[in-house]
Order: sequence, then C-alpha cells, then structure tokens
Amino acid sequence: MPCDSGIPDYRGPNGLWRKDPEAEKLVTYAYYMGDPEIRRRSWQMRRKNRALTAEPNAARRAVADLERGGVPVRVITQNVDGLHELAGMPARKVLELHGSVRSVMCTRCGARGPMKDSLERVAAGEEDPPCRECGGILKSATVMFGERLDPAVLGEAVAITKACQVFIAVGTSLQVQPAAGLAGVTADHGARLIIVNAEPTPYDDIADEVVRETIGTALPELLRRFGKRAPGRQA
Ligand code: ZN
Repeated sequence: MPCDSGIPDYRGPNGLWRKDPEAEKLVTYAYYMGDPEIRRRSWQMRRKNRALTAEPNAARRAVADLERGGVPVRVITQNVDGLHELAGMPARKVLELHGSVRSVMCTRCGARGPMKDSLERVAAGEEDPPCRECGGILKSATVMFGERLDPAVLGEAVAITKACQVFIAVGTSLQVQPAAGLAGVTADHGARLIIVNAEPTPYDDIADEVVRETIGTALPELLRRFGKRAPGRQA
C-alpha cells in the first residue's frame, strides 16, 4: 500500500518479509502464539518499527483538512501506521482494515492499550509483557498472517463504499482483496471512481479519472477540488 510516508511495504515485491522468511514468523499468528522466543523477537522488532515514529505526510494532512472543512470524509485504509488519526482525522471516521501498530490487544480477553506503554515495559526488562487484565498473550493490534480481517470492519467498509458519491483509491494496485472488491462495489453503485496510483490498475478502464503521479503531490491537489462541494472517500 502507499509507501509515501517512507514506511516499507511488507507485502510488496521488495517487501521486508520476502527478503527474510525468518522475519515472517514474527508476524504469523501461529508462530507468535506458540513460541515465546518468537514473541520476544517480535517485541524487539516493534521497538525499531519506523511506523511508530513516522509523521503524517502532505497527502494525509490534506485528507484531514478536507474533513475539517466540513466535507463528509471516510478513510478505508490497509495501512497500519495510524497516521490518518495523527494528521487529525477522527478515529471513528477511519477504518483500519489491517489494524494499527499504535495499539496492542490481548489475545485472550481482547483488552486494548497503547503500544507505547507495552514498549516501555519491554524497555524496562519485560521480554514478553503479558496482559495486565488477564495475563494473556499481548500482540500488536494488527492483522497477522494467518488471521482474518475483522468482518465487522470489512462490512462497514462495504457499506461506506456503497453509500459514497466519490471513491478515491489511493496508492493501491487494486489487485488484491479487499481493495479490489471495494473498487468493484463502487463501480456497481455508480459512485465516481478516481484512482491515484503510480502504476496501472485493472480498474483504470472503468475509472472516471486516473491520476498517475506521486501521492504526496497529487492527492492534496485533487482534494482541493472537493472542498465544500462533493463528499469524498478514500481507500
Ligand atoms: Zn487479557
């Protein structure tokens, strides 16, 4: 997904995990749950996660500005960096299909908390900090390999896609689910489909508009058009 904030795309052709199959275990649910050593290494990896210190780029700030200006905006994202909220988007208007690295969740009781607090526990010497509520195994609140996307979040994404008037697909190849499916839903419901991506996508032919430029420059310019006029959506 978008790499505009300088965060490596871990599933892409140059993705982190393809270069290091051993590292893939750190984000695979079965290995994580079954092996304390994997969890210890996962926590060390999280301490170095650049997504946690990244700052929102111009594109994300432009989305938040549009919302602040009174346009009904919803963000559906596969990014896990939490940068839309950091840019100022209200959390309830952001659907994070793959979760967020800025939170942790308990695999037993479902309790959630800030990643920052858990990383402080790791820095203080807890190699695999357990849930404070129930002692269960904590993990990053992201969808690991071997886990399903949250059906409730996915359902809400489809509902928003059906209801929107403008659907802007940003920085996605539209070749994998669920992004591809949502673009199809948009087309079926007559919303205006705008694609902003550096490479061609299978939906370019049916899109109302295709912008093939860097997201950081293209999106702010595009969104200025929608200020106070038409509702926009971004995937
Ligand atoms: Zn718990």
